[in-house]
Amino acid sequence: MYDVIVIGSGIGGLVTATQLAAKGAKVLVLERYLIPGGSAGYFQHQGYTFDVGASMIFGLGKQGTTNLLTRALEAVNVNLETIPDPVQINYHLPNHLNIKVDKNYEKFLHNLITYFPHEEIGIRRFYQECQKIFNCLNSIELLSLEEPKYVMSVFWQNPLSCLRLAKYLPQNVGDIARRYIKDPLLLKFIDIECYCWSVVPANMTPMINAGMVFSDRHYGGVNYPVGGVGQIAEKLVVGLEKNGGKIEYQARVTKIITANGKAVGVQLANGKIYYAQKIVSNATRWDTFEKLLPRGNMPSNEKRWQQRYKKSPSFLSLHLGVEASVIPTGTECHHIILEDWEKMELASGTLFVSIPTLLDPNIAPSGYHIIHAFTPAWISDWQGMSANQYNQQKEDAAWEIIARLESFFPGLEAGLDYMEVGTPLTHRRFLGRVDGTYGPIPQRKLWGLLRMPFNRTSISNLYCVGDSTFPGQGLNAVAFSGFACAHRIATDLGLT
Ligand SMILES: Cc1cc2nc3c(=O)[nH]c(=O)nc-3n(C[C@H](O)[C@H](O)[C@H](O)COP(=O)(O)OP(=O)(O)OC[C@H]3O[C@@H](n4cnc5c(N)ncnc54)[C@H](O)[C@@H]3O)c2cc1C
Repeated sequence: MYDVIVIGSGIGGLVTATQLAAKGAKVLVLERYLIPGGSAGYFQHQGYTFDVGASMIFGLGKQGTTNLLTRALEAVNVNLETIPDPVQINYHLPNHLNIKVDKNYEKFLHNLITYFPHEEIGIRRFYQECQKIFNCLNSIELLSLEEPKYVMSVFWQNPLSCLRLAKYLPQNVGDIARRYIKDPLLLKFIDIECYCWSVVPANMTPMINAGMVFSDRHYGGVNYPVGGVGQIAEKLVVGLEKNGGKIEYQARVTKIITANGKAVGVQLANGKIYYAQKIVSNATRWDTFEKLLPRGNMPSNEKRWQQRYKKSPSFLSLHLGVEASVIPTGTECHHIILEDWEKMELASGTLFVSIPTLLDPNIAPSGYHIIHAFTPAWISDWQGMSANQYNQQKEDAAWEIIARLESFFPGLEAGLDYMEVGTPLTHRRFLGRVDGTYGPIPQRKLWGLLRMPFNRTSISNLYCVGDSTFPGQGLNAVAFSGFACAHRIATDLGLT
């Protein structure tokens, strides 16, 4: 009998597990795949170490309270070396907008104001408002908002920060941006600033999340783990085991066992059953409440959640190995490419590009770079075809992306050494996420983050963690959800 079973070893699951193990709980993590990390995992081929998903990493800074990945690693006494990225993103946008988001705040503002000098005051005010949110978050310890004692103590220590955060909780970025900014092109830029991590435009993106992302990039910054993003999960597993926790791979949970309306255990695909006092699901809410529990008995608040949030598209991902000469000296690591504003939210519209070997050359063979290029794609566009049709569609889509990249990196096609293409079906299979989705997005404009659920569910002893809980997608965000989940469970188990 365990104290806690965590289904899944994504960053949300691992942060929950390590926090609880560090507090003395007997923890078991069950992961369906061969390695930990989920969307922050990796694969290796011909001397390349490819990040399967995330590679622009927040939360690995050295100061404040919002560096949650650093804090999670430190809590279990493991160390991860990182490389600071001097530029968060280089945007290549329509209307010849080429804007670099420099780590240095004033440099970034200067880059933006050069294009929009008539909006200097609005630009400064908008990003200052984001900084206000960040300063509030960064002044408190980020734990469970479902734990009244913590909420009270944080409130008495920082009443102004808390009141300010409460004010922003129901707000979206678009409404605040429009208060300060009038230029429609600049508002489109704010849209893509949001879209590239929230996958919705500014009017649907919660202001709290924007306050984090738009400010932390100039504070803790974006830092790349030495050895690749997969090292974050690998190190957390080392920390988990050091603290007495266990992880089992190829352990696919098919059922959450309940008794008298309470979660009491899990059953694996191989028939094994494990029991625990508390069960945590790091699978998406759709997977948890439609596949691991009987769909017919879905709690009413989960039904309401599904009416408010829908699955975002998945991605079409290209993992390329290219000759180093293809990448000009001085190129930045992360790029967003969009040729037509009308296509920002469409499949194959926005192209995300990362070249992590510019930060850590050792994850590719000497003389080669990695390019990870991905663009939104719906699973429905990849189903119902023969294997030949599927392979042909994959090949065509890959070469379309390469043609788009070729205008930024001439000679790319000739310098190709390796190519792996992932479709939404690949994401579903390897990441274990329904429809290969990136995560939940609002069905319609919502009140900021107000309706995003915390970790407790309406099934007693069952908790959720990860990107379908507050505060949403991104590694630092799911780490926040992991800290909160562990805090709530530790309180419930009397471990604090
Ligand atoms: C292409 C791409 C690019 C991204 N880029 C960035 C970025 O640059 N920066 C950033 O911060 N974020 C990025 N993200 C988002 C980020 O990776 C995710 O938000 C985050 O990793 C999600 O973590 P999670 O803990 O919610 O769960 P997941 O990563 O989804 O992990 C869940 C784990 O649970 C396991 N699991 C599921 N069901 C079961 C079951 N039944 N039994 C056992 N195990 C199970 C899965 O195998 C998986 O390991 C990106 C995502 C993608 C896909």
